[in-house]
Amino acid sequence: MERAAKEENTKSVAPTTETTPSHFIRNIVSEDLKQGKNQGRVHTRFPPEPNGYLHIGHAKSICLNFGLAAEFNGLCNLRFDDTNPSKEDVEYVDSIKADVRWLGFDWDEREFYASDYFEQLYEFALQLIKAGNAYVCDLNADQIREYRGTLTEPGKNSPYRNRSVEENLDLFERMRMGEFADGGRTLRAKIDMASPNLNMRDPVMYRILRATHHRTGDKWCIYPTYDFAHGQSDSIEGITHSICTLEFEDHRPLYDWFLDQLNVHHPQQIEFARLNLTYTALSKRKLLQLVQQKHVTGWDDPRMPTLAGLRRRGYTPQAIRVFCERIGVAKRNSNVDIAMLEHCLREDLNRRALRVMAVLRPLRVVIENYPDSQTEELEAVNNPEDPSMGTRKVPFSRVLYIEQDDFREEPPRGFFRLSPGREVRLRYAYIIKCVNVVKDPETGVVTELRCTYDPETKSGSSQSNRKVKATIHWASAAHAIEAEVRLYEHLFTKEDPDDVAEGSNWLANVNPKSLEKLKLCRLEPILATAKRGELYQFERLGYFCVDSVDSSPGALVFNRTVTLRDTWARIEKTQKKR
Ligand code: ATP
Ligand code: MG
Repeated sequence: MERAAKEENTKSVAPTTETTPSHFIRNIVSEDLKQGKNQGRVHTRFPPEPNGYLHIGHAKSICLNFGLAAEFNGLCNLRFDDTNPSKEDVEYVDSIKADVRWLGFDWDEREFYASDYFEQLYEFALQLIKAGNAYVCDLNADQIREYRGTLTEPGKNSPYRNRSVEENLDLFERMRMGEFADGGRTLRAKIDMASPNLNMRDPVMYRILRATHHRTGDKWCIYPTYDFAHGQSDSIEGITHSICTLEFEDHRPLYDWFLDQLNVHHPQQIEFARLNLTYTALSKRKLLQLVQQKHVTGWDDPRMPTLAGLRRRGYTPQAIRVFCERIGVAKRNSNVDIAMLEHCLREDLNRRALRVMAVLRPLRVVIENYPDSQTEELEAVNNPEDPSMGTRKVPFSRVLYIEQDDFREEPPRGFFRLSPGREVRLRYAYIIKCVNVVKDPETGVVTELRCTYDPETKSGSSQSNRKVKATIHWASAAHAIEAEVRLYEHLFTKEDPDDVAEGSNWLANVNPKSLEKLKLCRLEPILATAKRGELYQFERLGYFCVDSVDSSPGALVFNRTVTLRDTWARIEKTQKKR
C-alpha cells in the first residue's frame, strides 16, 4: 500500500511542461543554461531553519527549488540553516525531513547543515579581518541599534571600528575561546555606516552565545549570524541559483559584498513573493505561539497550516503540489484565497476517495412496514469517478439513522428533504415516507420518525424511476459503527489574522468555533477496519480521514478534511437575507 502511494508520488512530481505556465525564475534558469552559465549546472537548495515545523508557505519554496532542479536535470540540497541554537531543535530537523519526503521530494545524500561549515565560516571571518573588512566591536545590542541610525538618518561609526588587524584577530580568537560574556562583543563587517541600505551598516557577523547546539553541542560559544552564514553556505555548496523570498532583496547587496570580498563562488540570488493565504497565519513565530499558548493541540493540529497539520487533516501531497504549481511564482506579494487550496484538494480526493455513508447527527427512523427480522445487502458504488473501484454491500434494516438536518417538521420553501407526509429516497435503497413524528414530551425535541417504505422502489429495480425531489444518506442502526467525527472551520475569523482593533492582537482573531467534536456518529460498517490516515468521502458531507493520532480500532476518530460545496446552505442564506 505504502509502495503504491509512493509510486504515484514520484510520477506526479515529474514536470509537465505543456500544462505548467512558466514563470520568471524558470525563464532565468532556462536562459542561464542557454548562455552556458555555471558549466550547464543547475543546483538549488531548500534552506529551512530548524526552529519550527514547515508550513504551506514552505511547500511553495520546496516545490520551486526541487521542481526546478528536477526539470533542468539539476540537484537540490536540503540544508538546515542552523545558526541560532537557542531556538533550534532536532525535533524540528526530523519533522522537516519527514515533511519534505512526504511532499514527494528527495535530496539523496545531500543533507547539509550550516553548522557543518562553522569552521570554514570562522576561516572566512579571519580572512575578512585580515583584509581590514571586519572588526570586533564592544558595543552591546542596544548601542549597536542606536548607532545604526534610521532610514532617514545615517548611522554613526562604532568607536571600535578602527582597531588594528592584530587586535581584531586577537579579540576574535578570544571570543571563540570563551573569554567574554554572552553579548559582550561582536564581530562586525566594516562596510558603510552611512549606506542607505541598513543591512550594509556594519552588520554583525558573529555573536557570543553560550547555548548548546543540536549538532555541535558546546563546541562553540560564538555563532555566525544568519546573514553571514547563508550566502557563504550557498557558495560552499556550489549553489547556482539561490532562490529566496522577497524580504531578502535588501540583504542581497550584503551577501554580494561578502562573496566578493572573500572571492569565492558566487551564486545568483533570485527573490520571489512568499505565499500568503487568507484566514491563515504563515509565520513560524506565530505558529509557535499558537502551540505554546495551547490555542491548538500541537504543530500537527489539523487546523494548523503546517504540513504535519495538513497531512493529519487529510491533505494529500498531490493536492499541495498542484496548488503550488497553480499559484505560480511572482515578484509581487499577494494573498491567495484559501478556497483555492481547498479546491485543489477536492479535485484530488474526488478522483480517489471511496464513497461511504455516515450520519453525523443521527435521528432515528423506524420503517413500520419493513419486517423486523429482515436485513438486505444493497449494492453501493465505491466511486462514480472511477468504476474500477467497484461496488460494495451496505446493510439495510427496519431501524435506521438519518441526518437530523435532513428532516424539518415545518419545511421552509425550497426544502425538499423529509418532512411529515413527504417522501424522500434513501440512497441505494427505497423511497420512504414520514408518517409520524415522535417527540420528547418534556422538551418537544424530535426523537424518532415513523416512516413507511415502498418496496417497489428499490434502487436499480424496474420501479425505481419514480421521482422524488431528494435523496438522503442513512445508516442501519443495528449494523452501523459508532465513531467520533471532528469538524473544522478556519483557525481565524478574519481573512487577515492581523486585522485587529487597536490595543488588541492577532490572537483575538482565533476562531473559538474552529473545532467541533461530534461523538456517537453512525458510520457504515465497512469503516470498522478503516486505518489511520485513510481518506473517504462521506456522501453529501465532505471528505474525511482517519485521525493519525487519536484514532484506534474500535474507537475511530475522523477529521473532516474539507466539505463538499453545500448549495443548500447558500440557498438558505440568501433566503434569510430576503
Ligand atoms: P517564517 O517566516 O514562517 O518564520 P522563515 O522564512 O523564517 O519562515 P525558513 O526556515 O527560513 O523560515 O524558510 C525556509 C525557506 O522557505 C526560505 O527560503 C524561505 O524564504 C521560504 N519560505 C518561508 N515562508 C515562505 C512562504 N510563506 N512562501 C514561500 N516561501 C517561504
Ligand atoms: Mg527565514
